[in-house]
Amino acid sequence: MLKFQLRDSEIKITQPVEKFMTPDPFTLSTKDNVQKAIELMMDNKIGSCIIVDDQFRPQNIITKTDTIKLIFSGYTSLSIEDAIEFLGKDGKKLITVKLGTPVSECVKLFVTKNIKHLPVTDKKEVLKGIISATNILKKLSLLIFTDNLTSLGNRHYLQSIQFRLERIKSKHPIGILVADIDNFKQINDVYGHHIGDTVLQKVAQTILKTIRITDEAIRIGGEEFLIILFHASEISALKIAERIRKAVENLTFEEVPELRITISIGAVLCPCYILVDECIKTADKALLEAKEAGKNKVIFIPPRKTK
Ligand code: GH3
Ligand code: MG
Ligand code: MG
Repeated sequence: MLKFQLRDSEIKITQPVEKFMTPDPFTLSTKDNVQKAIELMMDNKIGSCIIVDDQFRPQNIITKTDTIKLIFSGYTSLSIEDAIEFLGKDGKKLITVKLGTPVSECVKLFVTKNIKHLPVTDKKEVLKGIISATNILKKLSLLIFTDNLTSLGNRHYLQSIQFRLERIKSKHPIGILVADIDNFKQINDVYGHHIGDTVLQKVAQTILKTIRITDEAIRIGGEEFLIILFHASEISALKIAERIRKAVENLTFEEVPELRITISIGAVLCPCYILVDECIKTADKALLEAKEAGKNKVIFIPPRKTK
C-alpha cells in the first residue's frame, strides 16, 4: 500500500534567512561594559550580543565563550571596546548576511568560518536580526520531520522515533493502525487537487482529534496515515480505529457539500516480541484486506503468539 513517495525531502534550505532569524536581537554599544553583556545574556538566555554603532550597524559580537574568557581574566568591568581589543576581535571585519540570503549560505559560513552566530542586516547595513547555527538546526529538523500539507510527522519523523517506539513497546504493547483514504484518486479527478488537499488536511485533523496527545499520527504516503497508540490493548486499538473510521465517514466539506469520504484501516497490536517495522507490515496487510472486503472497514490481525 505504501506506493506514494512524499516530496518532503526537499529541505527548505533555500528559504531566506528571515524565516530562521530572531528579529530585534539584543545589542550593546562599545561604551557599555562586560558586566552588562553578561547580565544581558544570563537574563535573556542568549548566546551572544551584537555590538552596534550609533546608527545600529553591527560592528562586533560578544559571545558567551568570550564572556567566560573575560570573567576568568577578571575583566568584567572592562568597557566593551577594551574587551574586544583584549579578545583580539578588533580590526576584524564582522561577518554579516543580508536579508534575503538563502539559509544554505549561512550554513556554509557557519562551517567555513567556524562561527555560530550571524547578524542579519538590511541594504543600509542596519541590524535586523541574528541567526544562530542552533536555531537553524532546530527549525530545520522541524521542517525535515513535518509534512507540509497536514503538519503531521512524515516518514523521516517515523524513522527518528524508531528507537523510542521499540523502547516503549518493550514495556507496554502499542497499537498500530495504517489508514488509507478510499477512492482518493477519484476525489482528485472529480473535484480537483485543491479539494483533495483539503480532504487530506481534514482527515489529518480528524485523526489528531480522535487520538491522545501522546499518541502519534504520521503521514506515510499520499493519502495514507500511520497511527501509533501507546499503552494499547486489542480492544482500545480497535475502538480508536472504529472511531476514526466513523468520524471520517461523517466529515463534510463546505466547498463541496455533496462530498463524502471513507477510510479503510488495518489494525494490529504490537507486542514486545515483535519489531514495530514488522507490525507495520502486518497492519498494511490488514489494510489490504479491508480494501478487498469492500473499503470503509477496520480489519484487525492478531499478533502471532511467540517470537
Ligand atoms: P484505494 O481506495 O484503493 O485506496 O484507491 P485510491 O484512489 O485512494 O488510491 P490510489 O493509490 O489509486 O490513488 C491515490 C491518489 O492520491 C493518487 C495521487 O495522485 C493522490 N495524492 C497523493 N498525494 C497527494 C497530495 O498531496 N494531494 C492530493 N490532492 N493528492 C495526492
Ligand atoms: Mg487510497
Ligand atoms: Mg494509498
